[in-house]
Amino acid sequence: MSKILKEVLAANEQYVSRFGDLGSLPPARRFAILTCMDARLDPARFAGLSEGDAHVIRNAGGRASDDAIRSLVISYKLLGTREWFVIHHTDCGMEKFSDDTIRTLLSASLETATLDASGWHDVGRGPGSSEAQYFDFLTIRDPEEAVVVDVRRIRRHPLVSGAIPIYGYLYDVRTGQLIEVPAASREGEPVRSEAPVP
Ligand SMILES: [Zn+2]
Repeated sequence: MSKILKEVLAANEQYVSRFGDLGSLPPARRFAILTCMDARLDPARFAGLSEGDAHVIRNAGGRASDDAIRSLVISYKLLGTREWFVIHHTDCGMEKFSDDTIRTLLSASLETATLDASGWHDVGRGPGSSEAQYFDFLTIRDPEEAVVVDVRRIRRHPLVSGAIPIYGYLYDVRTGQLIEVPAASREGEPVRSEAPVP
């Protein structure tokens, strides 16, 4: 058993011993957060969540991929969330490569690449794969612009209700602060009000 696997299972035993609040299936506070998988971000802590409070959808960059939108649509349509946050962050790894970079690295080998002052280098033994040519890795060039683009894509998606406010934020990894991206929040304003609940 690997060290990490042992550590995770031991931590879970501790968690089980003090486990109490189950929460309900639909999120009690009726909101959802789409954010990056970056290990420095802990949405439960930076947004004050307890078990059962909210949906947190994570991927590389916190991008509005088809799969992220799939989760958001389920979150609203079946589980009743009413407000959504798109939260990217400063110093995101998705700013540090392009599709071309990762495609070239993966075509050489599948092993972990290294990064130094001159850029990314593949040090694996290979073989790699050309399959990455078919992937859009949704890398980020301008952090603020990426939040705007993602909020806009969600807002205009045919399966997303116009009643949902979508807020756009950047999380500052140096301070822990959420900083609004006003142009994104403007894009995310509801385009119609929700039908009154009978
Ligand atoms: Zn990131």
